[in-house]
Amino acid sequence: MTNKLEALDIVVVGAGFAGLYAIHKFRELGMSVHCLEAAPDVGGVWFHNRYPGARCDVESLQYSYSFSQEIEADWQWSERYAAQPEILAYINFVADRLDLRRDISFMARVASSIWNADEQIWHITTEAGANLQARFVILASGGLSVTRKPDFPGVDSFEGLSFHTGQWPEEPVDFQGKRVAVIGTGSSGIQAVTAIAPQVAELVVFQRTPNFIIPSRNRPLDDAARQHWAENSTAFRARAKQVGTLYEFPSVGALDVDDAARRAEYQRRWDGGGVNFVHSFNNIYTDQAANDTAAEFVRERIREIVNDPVTAAKLCPTDHPLGSKRICVASGYYEAFNLPHVKLVDLREDSLEAITPAGVRTATVEHEVDMIVFATGYDALTGALTAIDIRGVDGKKLSDKWSAGPINYLGLMTEGFPNMFIVTGPGSPSVLVNMLVGIEQHIDWIADCIATLRERGAASIEPDVSAERDWVTQVNAEADKTLFVKANSWYLGANVPGKPRVFLPYAGGIGRYRGICDRVAADGYEGFRITPEHAPGESD
Ligand code: NAP
Repeated sequence: MTNKLEALDIVVVGAGFAGLYAIHKFRELGMSVHCLEAAPDVGGVWFHNRYPGARCDVESLQYSYSFSQEIEADWQWSERYAAQPEILAYINFVADRLDLRRDISFMARVASSIWNADEQIWHITTEAGANLQARFVILASGGLSVTRKPDFPGVDSFEGLSFHTGQWPEEPVDFQGKRVAVIGTGSSGIQAVTAIAPQVAELVVFQRTPNFIIPSRNRPLDDAARQHWAENSTAFRARAKQVGTLYEFPSVGALDVDDAARRAEYQRRWDGGGVNFVHSFNNIYTDQAANDTAAEFVRERIREIVNDPVTAAKLCPTDHPLGSKRICVASGYYEAFNLPHVKLVDLREDSLEAITPAGVRTATVEHEVDMIVFATGYDALTGALTAIDIRGVDGKKLSDKWSAGPINYLGLMTEGFPNMFIVTGPGSPSVLVNMLVGIEQHIDWIADCIATLRERGAASIEPDVSAERDWVTQVNAEADKTLFVKANSWYLGANVPGKPRVFLPYAGGIGRYRGICDRVAADGYEGFRITPEHAPGESD
């Protein structure tokens, strides 16, 4: 990549769904934009998550861009829930269609981004040594892009093949007849188990926390379903802007109806499949007693499906409310444990002591395997941001500022780091809503903001300290209204030793969040400090 010595208007970090839309949007505004992407091609998490069974649990018709009717009309989804290859093909289709690659440097991992207050310019450097300058930086580096492999003793000593679900190789992995260990039973692990189980000679699943897994009931999309979407897409997309994903949102609570009606509703949604189950009643996320009824319904299904009662008991989640860890979706997961060659190891009974050259050793036994799949998650929401050496005003480091938690305003910006925008990061609805809806809302808002600054001849924007302090309070208050705070989840950073325990996403909903962001903009960017062009470096 050649160095660009003249400052660009915009540098975008990351060429996933968010970064690609950002390139398109800023080009439309007539701005110079360049994107830096660590991977060899577009796709973000969908480039890397090639593990068997990888599939999105937001329905494909909704997990797609809404900004272009032409793109929507020219792409046909084949299944209710698209698998990773189809999502990646869609992302490539959009990149080609909008000719986005000419403004992307691949294999260009950003190492640092340093603010020069005199020039009011960001200086961005890649690990390969390229340098760029830009007035604005858009961090579209992904909320679930920095994989985490726990520091198990001997983790690198294994002599077979090992993979992390989030860094899966491009070449196919042959599981046929192999002995395989899967460590981790979150969304990635359970999908991998479901897909791998029928192929392997032996599968050992290492579970620390059992999760609630709802069947997906995936199926091919027929013409009638596609036509229904096409005929109603304007209304559907408008509604999605308010609710995120188009689940059925009821107005009654789980305890407002009698037992028979409650069970019937759970059964209907279980049979329908997907995350819609968690929305069976309007208080599953907020009321423990209501949540208990949903949780018990799922535990009954587990005991019904899994033949061995001891294994079934181990698979039943009891230590956190349903949905307080990200709900998982896959058909056939519980059924896999009825296969004679699939074994569950409950790490709470028999702890994982070490990875050995031959496999995985627990307190009681060494499981010899040919392959290990680490489905052990991510340093979520903040990991990709603090991994870059970002320095703002007076050389202040972002990782230092966020050492006790990611202080920010609207999830979009943080004080002391002017002209640096974060897409679907901490403090925004991000992972709690359909990512595509959140991404489009963010990029549109950021683009309007930058266009307004240009019209006003302003040089920079950053939040007030008081505005971000109030926002953090609001984010915490929204989380405290929910049961999310009752689980040791990655939403709270609980999966990364030493990470501050702070509920990261905004739990107030995309509709309310969108309203707040729009009001802030309409009120002249209330809570932000805008510095005029003629006064570089001035902060008030
Ligand atoms: P995850 O939800 O964080 O799951 C990681 C798993 O590894 C958990 O079961 C965790 O156990 C286990 N683990 C972590 N450290 C461990 C240790 N030291 N010893 C033993 N077990 C350990 O990660 P993920 O499954 O990759 O999913 C992350 C998120 O990506 C999802 O929640 C979802 O938002 C997204 N995703 C979505 C889809 C989809 O759309 N279907 C698919 C994949 C991913 P504990 O629970 O005990 O920590």
